[in-house]
Amino acid sequence: MTDADVIIVGAGPTGLMLACELCRAGVRPLALERLPEIRDIPKAGGLSGQILELLRYRGELERFEAASTARRPASGRFPWGGMHVDFTQLEDPPMEALPLPQPQLERVLEDFARELGADIRRGHEVVGLKQDDAAVTADVRGPDGPDRVTGQYLVGCDGASSRVRDLAGIPFPGITYPEVQRLAQVTVPEGVTVLENGDIDVAGHGRISFGFTRTERGEFALGSTNPGLMGLYTSEEEAVAYDDDEPMTVTELGDSIRRVLGVDLPLGEPTRLTRFTFHAREVERYRDGRILMAGDAAHLFPAPGVALGAGLLDSVNLGWKLAADIQGWAPPGLLATYHDERRLAAARNMLHAQAQVAIRRGHDPAAVALRDLFQELLADEQPLRRLGGLMAGSEVRYPFPGHDHHALIGTFAPDLALRTNRGATSVAELMHKARPVLLDLADRPDLREIARDWQDRVDIYAASADHRPADALLIRPDVHVAWAATIDEPTDTAAPALRDALSGWFGTPAG
Ligand SMILES: Cc1cc2nc3c(=O)[nH]c(=O)nc-3n(C[C@H](O)[C@H](O)[C@H](O)COP(=O)(O)OP(=O)(O)OC[C@H]3O[C@@H](n4cnc5c(N)ncnc54)[C@H](O)[C@@H]3O)c2cc1C
Repeated sequence: MTDADVIIVGAGPTGLMLACELCRAGVRPLALERLPEIRDIPKAGGLSGQILELLRYRGELERFEAASTARRPASGRFPWGGMHVDFTQLEDPPMEALPLPQPQLERVLEDFARELGADIRRGHEVVGLKQDDAAVTADVRGPDGPDRVTGQYLVGCDGASSRVRDLAGIPFPGITYPEVQRLAQVTVPEGVTVLENGDIDVAGHGRISFGFTRTERGEFALGSTNPGLMGLYTSEEEAVAYDDDEPMTVTELGDSIRRVLGVDLPLGEPTRLTRFTFHAREVERYRDGRILMAGDAAHLFPAPGVALGAGLLDSVNLGWKLAADIQGWAPPGLLATYHDERRLAAARNMLHAQAQVAIRRGHDPAAVALRDLFQELLADEQPLRRLGGLMAGSEVRYPFPGHDHHALIGTFAPDLALRTNRGATSVAELMHKARPVLLDLADRPDLREIARDWQDRVDIYAASADHRPADALLIRPDVHVAWAATIDEPTDTAAPALRDALSGWFGTPAG
């Protein structure tokens, strides 16, 4: 008997989300976290893109909204490659964000995971690993001394400098850019006057403009959302390796502003101080036997606003597959799809994150022209939507078997408004249980009958919709369409294809 079905190393956002997903799928996770409590240092400012949709389909979004500083996800202007991408003109923007500082996010996730029954042990650091055919064993340094725990699987959710990755010998190739970004908010000090247009007047120096100022040493930005505060940002090339867990100081910020802008800017009391470096890295393999990697431990993207959602979606992709394996019904190769699918999603994120590096960098006229041209192209709806889908991660289409049969196969299931004999509902509502769903949209008893053999693991619904993109949809717990019947597809092609999809994703029937 193992101590847990799955050992999760690291109770950051990725590990906590995985704990929730595993509990919902009916297995026992044990999360080991080296920190005794959640640290109040600012990292990500909120959630954005596809993860918000996923949480809505899970019926969990309200929890996150309740902890947010805004009541609903907001769409608007997002920083992108040193410019802003503006979705405010679009009625149904492809990208939304929910402000929720990372410490609060972690609290919501931890409370939820504990509510669902997860065992989360803080102050427990994993220092060694061993795996064989039957189990994985972790050596732990805990408050009561050394300990050893075993699980059927172990997932490294232990962040950018992952110990699990090192212990498992998984390479993490890529680039670290010699570019350091600093972001801060400080009170307006004596000697600085904020002018009506947002510029500031600095005693002994003169005026500094609101917005971005590019210099030969980098970039400086001044902004404010609050009359008593100055928002400050610098970006400069520095070949120094900072530890992301070491908070930035006001002195460090002042030194950076002096280097970039050539001004000794007086600074008041800080309300936010963050520094980050950009890397483009990805593990060579997301799985090594019984050890899997997720979140920052598996990938780092050189742009803000990407990493958090990518890590949470790793957990959503992985949770039900691990549970299927542990519960003994996973078809061969199911767990291997985790590497293939999340690698594909990471490639799409890497595409726009790397492009942002190229667009953001450079202060010569050619670089300025590239930014201006890009901004011009984004004034048109089609490229704006395309970029929004890429930023949100909603355009990812996994290459599932039968991919050519129907355009929805491999995509995130659309949220159709549905009518059933029990009243109105929606695809999102049917997914609240985080279980596989066969949704019959065209009164197809032939297809429902086939799915009945899998009814211990697949929920079967019949409904009608004003807009019917398919006769039936088979949806995985992570809300991706595993298979779809075309409109009026005859039984002799639809029935065997559905049977193949059911056994391909959900194993052989129990009885
Ligand atoms: C300054 C800053 C600003 C950022 N801003 C954004 C942003 O705006 N948007 C965005 O999407 N992302 C942002 N990020 C990135 C975001 O914070 C990360 O993507 C996110 O924290 C990744 O979550 P994770 O759970 O994968 O890893 P982490 O949050 O790093 O969590 C890993 C956990 O593992 C624990 N751990 C490590 N080693 C061990 C061990 N051996 N044993 C037990 N526990 C261990 C750590 O203590 C930690 O709690 C920012 C990061 C920084 C540093």
